[in-house]
Amino acid sequence: MSLHELTAHALHEKLKAREISAQELTEAVYERIAEVEPHVKGYLTLTKDIALEQASRADAGFQNGDEMPPLAGIPIAIKDVICTKGVRTTCGSKILENFVPPYNATVMTKLHEQGIVMVGKTNMDEFAMGSSTENSAYQITHNPWDLKAIPGGSSGGSAAVVAANTAICSLGSDTGGSIRQPAALCGVVGMKPTYGRVSRYGLVAFASSLDQIGPFTKDVTDCALLLNAICGSDAMDATSVDVPVPDFTQALINDVEGLKIGVPKEYFTPALDTEIADSVYAAIAVLEGLGATVEEVSLPHTEYAIATYYIIAPAEASANLARYDGVRYGYRTENPEALISMYKKTRSEGFGEEVKRRIMLGTFALSAGYQDAYYKKAQKVRTLIKSDFDAAFEKVDVIATPTSPTPAFKIGERTADPLQMYLSDVMTTPASHAGLPGISLPCGLVKSGLPIGLQLLGAPFAEENVLRVAYTFEQNTEHHRQKPQIQTNGDV
Ligand code: GLN
Repeated sequence: MSLHELTAHALHEKLKAREISAQELTEAVYERIAEVEPHVKGYLTLTKDIALEQASRADAGFQNGDEMPPLAGIPIAIKDVICTKGVRTTCGSKILENFVPPYNATVMTKLHEQGIVMVGKTNMDEFAMGSSTENSAYQITHNPWDLKAIPGGSSGGSAAVVAANTAICSLGSDTGGSIRQPAALCGVVGMKPTYGRVSRYGLVAFASSLDQIGPFTKDVTDCALLLNAICGSDAMDATSVDVPVPDFTQALINDVEGLKIGVPKEYFTPALDTEIADSVYAAIAVLEGLGATVEEVSLPHTEYAIATYYIIAPAEASANLARYDGVRYGYRTENPEALISMYKKTRSEGFGEEVKRRIMLGTFALSAGYQDAYYKKAQKVRTLIKSDFDAAFEKVDVIATPTSPTPAFKIGERTADPLQMYLSDVMTTPASHAGLPGISLPCGLVKSGLPIGLQLLGAPFAEENVLRVAYTFEQNTEHHRQKPQIQTNGDV
C-alpha cells in the first residue's frame, strides 16, 4: 500500500521504527493531492510550506529517539471553520475571503502540541449551513466514490479528502450532522463527541448550543487517537465540560458481549432507502451474533427533530452572524454611502443564499410576538427529544440507526428545494438536540456502489461505549476496507 493509503496508527509505527520519515509521508500526500485533488476539490487552501516545516520538526523528534505522540508527523486536514493562526479561514464564505485569524482554535493548539502536519483547510458549506457542500462560495467538492455526486455536508471537504487519501485524517464540525452525514456518504469514520467534550474556542460559531468539533478517519482506532488529542475542558469555552477525559484507545475492545443495543423503530420508516435499511439491519445482526443484546426502543419525538432544528439553529445563527457587519473584519462593500447602507450592502453581497435564508428564518423566529410561538416552543420540543433519549439509555448502552436516509445524491439534485435538502439530516439532528456522542462508520455499499453509514449513539460522555461497539463491528467485518476508485480520466 502507498503511504497515503495507510491509517495514522499504522504510519506512527513506521515513523517510530524510522522506516519512513514525516517528510516522505508529507510529500506522498501532496503527490496524491496533485493527482486527484483537481477532480475531488476538497481543499480551499493548501499549506505545504507549513506542512513541510512541521514534518521536519517531527522527523527531528523521531531521530532523537524522543517519545513522540501518536499523531506526530501525521498529515491532517482542517475544516475551514476552525481558526488557524496565520492561515486564511473562510468558512466557505465570501464575507471571510481574506480573513486570517490572529490566533489558533484550542483544537489546533492541541494538535500542534502533538506535532501534527497540517495539510490544508477543507471546503465546506458556507458557515456550515448545508448537507452537500454545494453552499460553499468557492467550489463544489466531488464525492470520491462518484465524482458526479455530492460528498455530504457541511464538512464535505473533510470527508472527501480522507476518502480520497489526500489527508490521513481530518477535523470537521457537526451542528446537526455535518460530521456524521458526510462520513456516511464518503465511506469513512466520522464522530461527533458529546456537546462540551471539545472546546469550541476558535470554531467559528453557527449554532452555539449544537456546534461540536470532531474527527474524520479511516478507521475507529484513528478516531480514538484524534479524540484523545482534542478532548478536554477549556477555560476559553464556558460550555466545555470539566469531566475527566479517558484514554479512548482503552475502549477499543473487540467484544460486545453483554452490551445492549437499542434499535429505534422511528428511524426505520418507509422513507428510508431499502438498501440502507437492509445494510443497517445486517450490521445490527452482526453485533447480535457477536454477543450484544438487541432490543427495539422508541424515540417518539423523532419526527419533530428537523422542524425543531430549523428553528433553533437559524435563531442562534442569526445572532452569531450579526458580527459580520463590514466594520471590524471580513468583507466590506466597495462603495458604502452611509452606515446603514454599508451594513446592508456588505451583508447582501458577502453572504450566500442559504445563509441569508437562515438569518431571515432565525430573526423571524426570535422576533417580538413570534418568539414564544416558534423559538420557545422549539426549545420545549428539544427537551422532549432529549427526554426520549434519556429514557432509552436507561435500557440500552448504544443506539444503532442509519446515518443518512439515502446514499450520496447527484450534484444539483436538491439545490432547488431547501426542504428536500433539510431532510438529509433527519437521522442526525435528534442526537444533536440531545448533545449526544455519535459515530458513523461504513457498513456496506448500495448496488450503485455508494457507501452506507451505520450511526451509533451513546449517552452523554459515553463515547467509550460507542467506540467499543464501532471497533468490534469494524474488526469483524470488511466494509471499512472498501475504497473508492477515483475516475481521474473524466472531465475535471
Ligand atoms: N445540514 C445541517 C444544516 O444545514 C447540519 C449542518 C451542520 O451540522 N453544520 O444545518
